[in-house]
Amino acid sequence: MALIVYGTHVFTKFKGYYGMKEECPYCHRKYQKGYVRYSKWVHFEYIPLFPVKILYLKMCPICGKAYELTGKEAKEQMEYANETSEQKLEMYAKHILAKKPKGIMACDTSYEFWVKDLVTGEEICIASDLAKEEVKRMKKQRGIKKLQIIDV
Ligand SMILES: [Zn+2]
Repeated sequence: MALIVYGTHVFTKFKGYYGMKEECPYCHRKYQKGYVRYSKWVHFEYIPLFPVKILYLKMCPICGKAYELTGKEAKEQMEYANETSEQKLEMYAKHILAKKPKGIMACDTSYEFWVKDLVTGEEICIASDLAKEEVKRMKKQRGIKKLQIIDV
């Protein structure tokens, strides 16, 4: 009997920064919001077949607080903004205990998630004491393909 692998998978893709700079009610940083496309696909034998849910997350690029928009709302807002954003942010993670001997901790939660503002040079630590899985989750939520992890 063949094993049939059927399920859903979520893909995220960062689409850019749009709109006016607004102060975030959570972290009080003033940035343009990031737009992330979120799509949930049904897959069969690891091959995506069709999307079951597509929405956008309009996200504070610093703390990651986001709310959902429909594809139509997001596209309207992105089209309306219509200008190239000057905002340049780079996300990366630090692995604080990377050089500690293995097996010293049951669970390594020494990762930190950082954002660097490439315009002002400011570096902001968004979260610390993270496990690697949490870093991966944050990366995915923000729609980033590659995230540099710096061993400290
Ligand atoms: Zn925020």
